[in-house]
Amino acid sequence: MDEIDTVIKAYQLYQEQTTAQGLEALLSVTRAWRLVKFIDNGMLSMTKCSKCGGHFVTHPHEIAKHYVCGLCNPPARAGKGHAAGSIRMDAARAANATAH
Ligand SMILES: [Zn+2]
Repeated sequence: MDEIDTVIKAYQLYQEQTTAQGLEALLSVTRAWRLVKFIDNGMLSMTKCSKCGGHFVTHPHEIAKHYVCGLCNPPARAGKGHAAGSIRMDAARAANATAH
């Protein structure tokens, strides 16, 4: 299978998953292709999260022993501001609902 076919099939899976979860697809197919190219030429790599064991796209040479992914340790501002389409959307909505 050609690399572009692989990217397109993977992107279709991504779209199916985001649709099934009712989330907005934040990654365009152009961006997905560029990500693959960045991985290919070593500008990005995959690192295993030390908490959940999932593999995540990171800068190369991330210290795997101490790496914690954004799902296990969300950034301080995650869920605030433009939460629409993000995984934390429901949490943000719940927080807003209780605040008003
Ligand atoms: Zn994790």
